[in-house]
Amino acid sequence: MDTADQTYIKTHNQRILLDHIIQHHPISRADLSKMTRLNKATVSSQTASLMEKELIYEIGTGISSGGRRPVMLEFNKNAGYVIGVDLGVHYILTLLTDLEGNILFHDYVETSNPSIESIKPILIERIELIAKMAPPSPYGIIGIGVGVHGFVNNDELIVLTPHSKWKDVELKTTLESHFHCPVLIENEANAGAYGEKLFGAIKNCSNCIFVSVGMGIGVGIIMNGELYRGTEGFSGEMGHMTIDLNGGKCGCGNYGCWELYASEGAFFKKMAALKNLDEMNLEQISKLIQEHDGEAMEELEKFGYYLGIGLTNIINTFNPEAVVLRSNFIESNPIVLNSIQNTISARITRYVHQSHQIYLSQLHRNATALGAASFVIHHFLMESDHVSLKQDARAFDSI
Ligand SMILES: [Zn+2]
Repeated sequence: MDTADQTYIKTHNQRILLDHIIQHHPISRADLSKMTRLNKATVSSQTASLMEKELIYEIGTGISSGGRRPVMLEFNKNAGYVIGVDLGVHYILTLLTDLEGNILFHDYVETSNPSIESIKPILIERIELIAKMAPPSPYGIIGIGVGVHGFVNNDELIVLTPHSKWKDVELKTTLESHFHCPVLIENEANAGAYGEKLFGAIKNCSNCIFVSVGMGIGVGIIMNGELYRGTEGFSGEMGHMTIDLNGGKCGCGNYGCWELYASEGAFFKKMAALKNLDEMNLEQISKLIQEHDGEAMEELEKFGYYLGIGLTNIINTFNPEAVVLRSNFIESNPIVLNSIQNTISARITRYVHQSHQIYLSQLHRNATALGAASFVIHHFLMESDHVSLKQDARAFDSI
């Protein structure tokens, strides 16, 4: 066997061991050997290498099955930290997490001008701010994951954002050259679906759909336990499926798109028009609903109806175990679930029994940022070369 093969096998074995330690820590070397079916010598040498890299450490002793008590191995979740960003049309939400996705710090700002020229300096400032909160660690900030509202292709180029009109934006390169660490750009609904699959409502589902209802509607698809991105990375743009053949023009270029009828943006706009106001916010509309305002209740029913129409199309297409809704408005006003559920039940074929469980997001506003951070963590632990990254860690710290 040549050296390249040997290096590949060692790296592969090391990742298998690290993955098992992350899933089952604290764990003994003997149990790791049993679980992974790697021999004791391999487990011993590769865990020694992981300890040298400070990705794992030894703690006290575990439960003995007779004989000497085994030393247990722990995953070092504080070996480095990650920044996750949800870049919305009118806000930037930034999180700092450890390598297990536990949130250490949280920052949220609203933005008034959605142009990319105006957003870039604010985004850099918020990331710098939250990066300073990271405790000292062997690897420092291991990367930045950004979930963006819009079409993001497989090269992580932001091709188009229908609401803020960005075209061909190379945010990845801009942030990488500024922060000198890996940056990952993903569509916000894909990131949210990944976050919800790892930590939230659909943790135990293999086939499920995440629907993000905000200014527009984005859909993230988990198929056979994996995020489905499509050929170019544009899967899940179901906010732009036509539900009205004679509908108005959408920012995407199509007509009668679902999100023109069933997004929070569309609903808030309709409510403002009815009340002769320029705009209305979540608190104002929630208050009208609590007071059972006639117009608000009627519009709410229609909003739920339009959401139900699109969700029926989604359920008929994917036959999912569950659908997760992520929306500040729906989470504050779960009463809308009634009209959503009624529409689905009235329209779905009676042969579909179990496949329309609708859940609300468990991660709430953090779903996208947490998902984006998790892509970075996965890449760092399972795909990158830790040693060379460790040498680069100081580059970020010196900013
Ligand atoms: Zn559209």
